[in-house]
Amino acid sequence: MRFIKIPHIDDTWDKVHIKTLSPSSFSWICNGCAYQVLLQKVLYTLGDNTYFLPPHKNTILGTIIHKIYELASKGTLSTPREMMEIWEQLVNEQKKKLIESYPTLLNPKINDYDKRNKAIRYAITIHEKKTDFLLESTNIKIVSEKPIVCEDIGLSGVVDKMIIDSGNIDIIDYKSGRVVDEDGNLKLEYIVQLHLYAAMCVHLSLGNIRSLKLIDIEGQLFDIVYDEELSKALVKDVAERIVKLNNAINARQFEDLIKPDKDRCGYCSCRHICNYMIQSDELIYRTICGYVKRISSSNMYILQNGDITYYISGIGVYPIDDYYGYIGKKLVFINVIRTSSLANNYTYKVTENTLVYEL
Ligand code: SF4
Repeated sequence: MRFIKIPHIDDTWDKVHIKTLSPSSFSWICNGCAYQVLLQKVLYTLGDNTYFLPPHKNTILGTIIHKIYELASKGTLSTPREMMEIWEQLVNEQKKKLIESYPTLLNPKINDYDKRNKAIRYAITIHEKKTDFLLESTNIKIVSEKPIVCEDIGLSGVVDKMIIDSGNIDIIDYKSGRVVDEDGNLKLEYIVQLHLYAAMCVHLSLGNIRSLKLIDIEGQLFDIVYDEELSKALVKDVAERIVKLNNAINARQFEDLIKPDKDRCGYCSCRHICNYMIQSDELIYRTICGYVKRISSSNMYILQNGDITYYISGIGVYPIDDYYGYIGKKLVFINVIRTSSLANNYTYKVTENTLVYEL
């Protein structure tokens, strides 16, 4: 095997241009790190899915949960047993995909039976049409997982569910994580996201927005009051942000967009290619990057990063084709842990969750 080799991203910026943002990317640009959105676009432009870090297990399970809700609302799944079987099948398919895509990921655990049971309980209510807003009416049309692109207003995304009923639209977004903040209020980012989906539906003249709803994994329904003015203001903001992002790309000036933060960077989906990543000493799973300076045994690579020398052990678990061919190469190790709590700060070992990239 070889580690996944990512081409130099500096050579790719010429090909990167932002035409649209998804509602979730827009939220992240406003409240997180806009540079991450650009790096994701670079990876996308490079055209190989394995350059992306694997999605968080909650994201994968969220997709599986959506699928089960969709099949339950179509009547394809009706009993808990059928739903459990499809859950296992989808989880196993995703695990297989992870193993095939990421050769160093030795144990891609993604299952979560608590989430499964909650999702199935709600899927049963969908199937039995116990959910008020899904009550049948003669003109109703339910559309699931609908990709929408509105280039003229700089938006694109996939709507989890739309109910189109006599010229009216209900937009429904399923969330597998927490929907409210510490104070019990609906998270602002979700209010923004739903209003942007509404803007796309209005732009495409799909109907009048009748309601915006969030549903959490336990089936709890949260209504968001639709505010047309907010929707319009957000669309204007999206256009301005796109201009700013493209200007930054053209000038290769990213300083205003980069927002390193110990918590944020530690879980960032682009931390393997980001030169500005910082991480907390408290983190168990760490990201270590450097040039391979020496290979001291068949089990250990010694990396140099500036003044720091890192020792990474456990490499012997990987059947690497050309073990010594990595001397002088830049490698990044994601999800390595300290060898021991007593060891110095620079001695790490690979784990069953480790990913290794050559940059
Ligand atoms: S690692 Fe940190 S600074 Fe870099 S893109 Fe991610 S969040 Fe931004």
